[in-house]
Amino acid sequence: MSTTMSETQQFETVVGLEVHVELQTNSKIFCGCKTNFGAPPNTNVCPICLGHPGTLPVLNKGAVDLAIRAAVALNCRINQDCKFDRKNYFYPDLPKGYQISQFDQPIGEHGYVEIDVNGERKRIGIVRVHLEEDAGKSMHAADGTHTLVDYNRTGVPLIEIVSEPDIRSPEEARLYLEAIKSIMQYCEISDCRMEEGSLRCDANISLRPVGAAEFGQKTEVKNMNSFRNVQKALECEVERQTAILASGGRVTQETRRFDEATQTTVSMRSKEEAHDYRYFPEPDLVRLNIDDAWLNRIRASLPELPLQKRDRYVTEYQLPAYDAGVLTADHATAAYFEAVVAAGADPKTASNWVMGEVLGYLNAQNLEVSQSPVTAERLAGLIREVASGKISLKQGREVFKAMCETGKDAPTLIAELGMEQISDESALAAMVEEAIANNPKSVEDYLGGKEKALGALVGQIMKASKGKANPGVVNKLLVERLKAMQ
Ligand SMILES: [Zn+2]
Repeated sequence: MSTTMSETQQFETVVGLEVHVELQTNSKIFCGCKTNFGAPPNTNVCPICLGHPGTLPVLNKGAVDLAIRAAVALNCRINQDCKFDRKNYFYPDLPKGYQISQFDQPIGEHGYVEIDVNGERKRIGIVRVHLEEDAGKSMHAADGTHTLVDYNRTGVPLIEIVSEPDIRSPEEARLYLEAIKSIMQYCEISDCRMEEGSLRCDANISLRPVGAAEFGQKTEVKNMNSFRNVQKALECEVERQTAILASGGRVTQETRRFDEATQTTVSMRSKEEAHDYRYFPEPDLVRLNIDDAWLNRIRASLPELPLQKRDRYVTEYQLPAYDAGVLTADHATAAYFEAVVAAGADPKTASNWVMGEVLGYLNAQNLEVSQSPVTAERLAGLIREVASGKISLKQGREVFKAMCETGKDAPTLIAELGMEQISDESALAAMVEEAIANNPKSVEDYLGGKEKALGALVGQIMKASKGKANPGVVNKLLVERLKAMQ
């Protein structure tokens, strides 16, 4: 292990990511076919997206809207006058024999995304954001005898986000992807479901001696279907390339894929054949003109972005950066938290409940925040009961569980479960007297200087009250009464 560590330290990791994001439009980019995931194979198709001769594409303005939104949210310069190009290649899932994409004039260029790495804010450059159509999906039979093609995905609008090689570790790659996903969800550009393919990622990774200006030979890694796997695959590549370089070898240019079963990367094809896609301007579409009014309307419609929200939670609610990061990672969670605070809860208390009980329950049940059985208002109601001392925090957690299971609110359940904490001093005074009378040994010990004996007396009262006595009040009353006996 120690040798691996020192070897790793001699090299710097350089990663660039290409992320494809499907836009959440109702219909495809050049025809009226639906885009819903999971439809029976080849049911969301028509002559246009199947590429029949003589058909013409009609651009979906909604897809352009979302692509501009993405480019603006990623701080890109917008090319207000741009065009579409044909990228020519043959593949069974591409019935036209070409993909309509953007070659030299993408919608957005020169943007950036900010991430927090070990408490430091870091900027990752974005080379370009361009709009294109998705291809279909080939499904290869496990026994290798045949392949089936589903064209439902053909023509679904897609943006490709290409990062600068600014990423310096597998962890930064994951943070960058989380930031992209979060921004896309906040701006309602895509649902970014990696398991459904609406967010896909390829990585270029190389190593170079620390301090070197030139990049090393890179490999491309594909087929990573979760953020965890992206990080894992890149960690494997760092290890593999480090071993090659440390032993004086050379990294070969190749495309590798992540094998989930073995948790390693394996070679797919070595020596990438030089692609010549013979790009040329798409003759069936006019140039895309984004006028100032259109662009300004989109700029004005963007919501507060995740990082701005995170910073605001730290300053406005005085939350720790960790809490702010967890709560703002997804906009539904942030909205839920803000609603709890708006309903009167203390921000840090609300944060503890949302990060602990709420997200814990939802994760265990595999539910989204929008499906939470406890509304923000009802959670605020429960927090109020605990804050007022009516029930203890421990009881509050039990009530929360019951709220999830029964759908009832906190006051109802507290009454039903007979949980009301006894804080009334006159009601507790009798119990204090009884405990003192029944436990002369503890009283004697306490008066003799053994402060621990107080705990035994408190315990008696908690037991006698079936846990309902407010321990703070009991403590105070006991001390007062015992002091009077001295
Ligand atoms: Zn169609």
